[in-house]
Amino acid sequence: MATRQISLIVIHCSATPNGRWTQLADIDHWHRSAPRFFKRAAAARQRFNPDLTSIGYHWVIGLNGARFSGRHVDEVGAHAAQWNTHSIGICLIGTDRYTPDQWAALADQVAHLAKLYNVPLQFADIPRAGRGARGICGHRDLSPDGNGNGIVEPFEWLKTCPGFSVRDWLAGGMVPLDGHVLRPVAD
Ligand SMILES: [Zn+2]
Repeated sequence: MATRQISLIVIHCSATPNGRWTQLADIDHWHRSAPRFFKRAAAARQRFNPDLTSIGYHWVIGLNGARFSGRHVDEVGAHAAQWNTHSIGICLIGTDRYTPDQWAALADQVAHLAKLYNVPLQFADIPRAGRGARGICGHRDLSPDGNGNGIVEPFEWLKTCPGFSVRDWLAGGMVPLDGHVLRPVAD
């Protein structure tokens, strides 16, 4: 059980070409050299995954649906500016199309974490709920609602991450979204 309070589960993508294998160590390396570099505290590393110096996510989901842990859930992540303190970050490898195994792992992982940390399994409506928002969202949904109309619209997205609508995914029962499924290439 986490010692910090969790109110948001934020879904990300690695922004690497869809279907390209990417290792946890690669992501760790990118975060190490990122402009807004966020180094893990020595004590946190000693406790968990000491070889990862910088990774900002708590979980990464590979193309085959394998889940890799980055930071411990008790450790504040570095994945969503202004929202790290009370959130968990999950990263899908790819940009906007994911394998059926990734979709299945994401649904399972989000449902599991939501139950474990008492986060409602619903879209976290940031413009309406503000800092008190609880639930699940995509990184792009944390962009400021520039025109204040209560919806974070595409032109307001600071990033497109994770490349699909988490709101639609939740509303549809967490099944893979049309147009975002990567089918394995036939041999
Ligand atoms: Zn992101």
